[in-house]
Amino acid sequence: MSLRIDILTLFPRMLDGFLAESILGKAIARDLLQVQVRDLRDWCTDKHRTADDRPFGGGAGMILKPEPTIAAIEAVQSPGCQRIYLTPDGEPFGEAMAREFAAADHLVFLSGHYEGIDQRIRDSVIDREVSIGDYVLTNGTLPAAVVVDAVARFIPGVLGDEKSLTHESFTGKLLDFPQYTRPAEFRGMSVPDVLLTGNHGEIERWRQAQRIEKTRQVRPDLFQKYRHESDHQ
Ligand code: SAM
Repeated sequence: MSLRIDILTLFPRMLDGFLAESILGKAIARDLLQVQVRDLRDWCTDKHRTADDRPFGGGAGMILKPEPTIAAIEAVQSPGCQRIYLTPDGEPFGEAMAREFAAADHLVFLSGHYEGIDQRIRDSVIDREVSIGDYVLTNGTLPAAVVVDAVARFIPGVLGDEKSLTHESFTGKLLDFPQYTRPAEFRGMSVPDVLLTGNHGEIERWRQAQRIEKTRQVRPDLFQKYRHESDHQ
């Protein structure tokens, strides 16, 4: 049975291209995962289809109302599904969470907008709150897309070559090594000689050294973890 994903948003059309193109589009066409995008306004019952209202206590912006949002989640949820709210004050999203989500049967993502959502939605129908980074976007549709994309890569069959998963940045705590393709010489810039030798052992050693150096320079936090784990192996 393939992973089922529902994305609840006020802006379903933002995801049209994202779900139709490239690796994700192919995976959906091959039924390796099923993604349904739902318009939250379909659960608004007034004639203006109002999804938001002013915050109690004053303050800027608007807040997603509980009635349509909770009705939408209750309409799509299934027993045992995970209901996830994308929010900048959530748990940081990362590789481990992506793997965990990829093993689920059914995920429901809720995208907020304006100033966020009524707390009672979070308290009653949300299992997990997830942030894609320490910055604030205008709505949660792109964060939902980011999470779905990262999750999809861990579904068996989605990537043509599953080896991609073991060589990528973050796998094994190191960032990726530099890649080159033809031509071997371009505008005076050459491909490192070692890559042209065909010596796989040498190439592997060079790549590992590059990964270590890149991680040391760009992500000292990851480098410390890598050093610590190497010392204790
Ligand atoms: N007032 C909220 C706060 O300070 O935490 C920010 C609301 S933000 C302008 C509107 C919506 O965008 C949120 O409800 C959330 O769904 C989404 N969003 C914005 N930044 C995000 C992030 N870094 N990760 C996940 N979702 C985010």
